[in-house]
Amino acid sequence: MSTGNEVMHDGVMSTGEDARIFPDVEACIDCGGCVVSCKRTWDVPRDEQRISIATMLEGQEAASGLNASSGKAIGQGESPGETAVPMQCYHCSNAPCVSVCPTDSLISKENGFVRVRDDLCIGCQYCLSACPFGAPQFPDEDSGVANLVGSGGTMDKCTMCEERQDVGKGPACAEECATDAILVGTPAQISDELDNRDSGTFFNDVAMDIIFGDDASEFQ
Ligand code: SF4
Ligand code: SF4
Repeated sequence: MSTGNEVMHDGVMSTGEDARIFPDVEACIDCGGCVVSCKRTWDVPRDEQRISIATMLEGQEAASGLNASSGKAIGQGESPGETAVPMQCYHCSNAPCVSVCPTDSLISKENGFVRVRDDLCIGCQYCLSACPFGAPQFPDEDSGVANLVGSGGTMDKCTMCEERQDVGKGPACAEECATDAILVGTPAQISDELDNRDSGTFFNDVAMDIIFGDDASEFQ
């Protein structure tokens, strides 16, 4: 596993234990490259996405002078205007999905990854209701694997490419992002990189506490 100290490129600053994944919404150009790289890397079924781009406030302009600075606008309490937000599992420190899962299919590992154990999932979709970021995915048709409860089969979500990180690579989405809009590193590295870019976060304090726990203070 990587030591967490090496610099790969602007977006992927370190991997492995304690690495987090977080979007720079100002850098995202909504090209879909991350979605394609994820699907290709993990052979994600046609009707599922482990990462998607959510367009917020479509067609709206930001507050005066802030059209190219949506993260900064939010930090100033102003309207950010249309903003593309890469949405995936952020492997939350205080993961609500883990709290609600009745079968312990979802676990927060000591190295920071939130994993789903397919063999325990009963397809109840409680995690889908609990996750504020729309990360849990279910097949359109029941595969018959998780047919005790619900109708959508076994839950699937972004793994933050744990297997790639185990061999020192970054998540496929982050490595292929043409604008380095998906940041991977420690909370301090991500916060510093956002500061260096004069960018900011799209998420409010409640969401930041869910994602980063005590480390949310790095972003204040
Ligand atoms: S983003 Fe959603 S699925 Fe991922 S850890 Fe957080 S609450 Fe769970
Ligand atoms: S769908 Fe599966 S992973 Fe989600 S809460 Fe139910 S049992 Fe847990």
